[in-house]
Amino acid sequence: MKFSRRTFLKTVGVASAGVTAAATMPERFLSWAEESAEAGVKLVPTFCELCFWNCGLIARVENGKVVKVEGNPLSLRGRGRLCGRGNAALGALYDPDRLKYPLINTGTRGAPVWKRASWDEALGVIAGRMEKIRKEHGPEALALFSHGTGGAFWKHLLKAYGSSNYTAPSFAQCRGPRDTGFLLTFGADVGSPEYYDFDNSRHIVLLGSHLGENAHNSQVQDVVQGLARGARLTVVDPRLSNIASKADDWLPIKPATDLALLLAWIRIVIVEELYDREYVGKYATGLEELGAAVAEYTPEWAEKETDIPAETIVRIARDLGKSAPHVCIGAGRYAVWYGDDTQRSRAIAILNALLGSWGREGGYYLPVSGGVPEYPGLPEYPHSEGVPRLDEAYPFASLQTTTSIRQASITGKPHPVKGWFVYGCNLMKTMPDREETIRALANLDLVVAIDVLPVDMIAHADVVLPECTYLERYDNLSVGKFKELEISLRQPAVEPLWESRPSWWMTRELGSRLGLQAYFPWKDGEEYLARRCEAGGVEFAELKKKGVIVRSGGASPYIVPGSEPTFDTPSGKIELFSKQLQEKGFDPVPKYTRHPQPPQGYFRLLFGRSPLHTFSRTTNNFLLADLQKENSLWINSRKGRELGLKDGDTVQLETSAGVTSPGTIRVKLTERLREDAVYLYHGFGVHAAGMTRAGNRGVGDDELIAKPTVDPIMGGTAMRTTFVKPVRRG
Ligand code: SF4
Repeated sequence: MKFSRRTFLKTVGVASAGVTAAATMPERFLSWAEESAEAGVKLVPTFCELCFWNCGLIARVENGKVVKVEGNPLSLRGRGRLCGRGNAALGALYDPDRLKYPLINTGTRGAPVWKRASWDEALGVIAGRMEKIRKEHGPEALALFSHGTGGAFWKHLLKAYGSSNYTAPSFAQCRGPRDTGFLLTFGADVGSPEYYDFDNSRHIVLLGSHLGENAHNSQVQDVVQGLARGARLTVVDPRLSNIASKADDWLPIKPATDLALLLAWIRIVIVEELYDREYVGKYATGLEELGAAVAEYTPEWAEKETDIPAETIVRIARDLGKSAPHVCIGAGRYAVWYGDDTQRSRAIAILNALLGSWGREGGYYLPVSGGVPEYPGLPEYPHSEGVPRLDEAYPFASLQTTTSIRQASITGKPHPVKGWFVYGCNLMKTMPDREETIRALANLDLVVAIDVLPVDMIAHADVVLPECTYLERYDNLSVGKFKELEISLRQPAVEPLWESRPSWWMTRELGSRLGLQAYFPWKDGEEYLARRCEAGGVEFAELKKKGVIVRSGGASPYIVPGSEPTFDTPSGKIELFSKQLQEKGFDPVPKYTRHPQPPQGYFRLLFGRSPLHTFSRTTNNFLLADLQKENSLWINSRKGRELGLKDGDTVQLETSAGVTSPGTIRVKLTERLREDAVYLYHGFGVHAAGMTRAGNRGVGDDELIAKPTVDPIMGGTAMRTTFVKPVRRG
């Protein structure tokens, strides 16, 4: 079926109806739950972990087996719906490739020989080496890399042990620059999930963000609502993504020039006085300096840089001015592109500020305050005095970067790092420059991997701890700050399979072997959660029954008379000109620098998300692998034909730095991509023994990115700077 904007909006009608119906469903669901229980069917509300969005779901359990999952209508992040990945929960739970028992590596890192171990033996080995590291190098020599809800328990263990070195690839390899750019401008980041008020927008602008393929459940529903209500949509992307195909304007920008477009828009908004004078006058500082700094970025100059016609640039800027403040220039999510990403994100923040969209209907809403306190009565964490920060080189890194831990593991500077816990993140695929990661691993005294699947990282661990899936465990609470506060509970629908265990148990057991029992007083996961709820005034029995409790904050999510906003910046205002950046030697207003373009015969490697997969975490899922087994290489049809390629041809990729992909990928010729770039879905190119469905399928961008440029402001690793060419083999 041809999917036009019209049919899309017809579907929107159905979607909206679904959302309305969902709002009236909870009571029905609850009585249904009781009836079903009588009939011998158990319905267990919990939340999804097939991506970080944490949508509420209800697991249907028959004869001790989960047979189906459905969206929980009470969930703000799902609203009664699950995305394609979320619906494949059974493929995660019943994956025969899952890690089943603790394993000890009797071979070497990278060439493991596995010995099945008891929990007692595995935890004993880990605790022994942790004690040795603490004695020889101090507690700060231990680091944690984590991704996912259970990471909170490992962070707690690390802090109780005495280390502050916890990190997540989601900062320096993903959204760090945009959070830093917004923090520097507004004194607040954009949240996760983001505080976009898309459903009330009159004009939405997305830059390099492919919502829909990036299937963030409620956010996709919000965009759909916004479009149904008549919002304009502008998508800036070298590729005609699915969302770009629904846009009023698709701007196929020359890669690496987004900042030029943003600076030209900022200039037009100032010169033509399209900005919100009252808002900027009241809440912002630095307009004059900003105006002077962007004076050179004319639309005609931007046309030459970006390949977008000057009149289009002007027309869209004027339309944004007309729709302000109900406009949302999206901050994106994956933002580590070219190395000046904090400044690009600053430019997005500044444009939003000029249009007055922060704290305004249809722009960025102000999230509810509050939360749920931590477990009460725990001892203070120990602090090591005088230990230098690993991220000294990146003055605005608001979170520890993965790469500085890797660097300290190699050099021992500014202090040694000798042990890694890797929870739920496949570092072999999430961190660029794999050789460097392997060099760091070689220097360590302890590598522990905690995961559900035998991902690529496992082969480099000394000890592997099998975690049970999100359908088999109590976990930390998921507390979402939206216009309302959403508290979601994860609870087991079924018992853990094989010998897998939850993180609350593993960390408590390790804690007790390390003499840290006082930090882990809970009897079990349920008691841990019940005490937290009790401390926060949350009715635990109700949460268990419903899975989600939503609390209204009372205050308006928008700036209204009498609710003046505060900005946590040095000036207490929105900083269009940043003295903080200036004092540290950075440009106080974003400045355009031209990035290298692909050499003759090469293409810029772009990558993004498949709507059916969450990176390499789901490529082994038998339900999802059935739908998409491997990725393909998008290449412009004309360029592809010029190279003698046709649809379905198998090629390897070779970079201009001489790296060749270990695997092959099929060619997909398309008109939906510029001629200077190729595109593939991220998460493929898995080479882990034991991942029987994902193994050796397609090519991973991570296999090709070597020596990435680093954002000097916050340490993000730029990953759109690799140039490749397809090479036929055989
Ligand atoms: S967006 Fe999809 S995969 Fe992510 S939590 Fe929601 S249902 Fe699960």
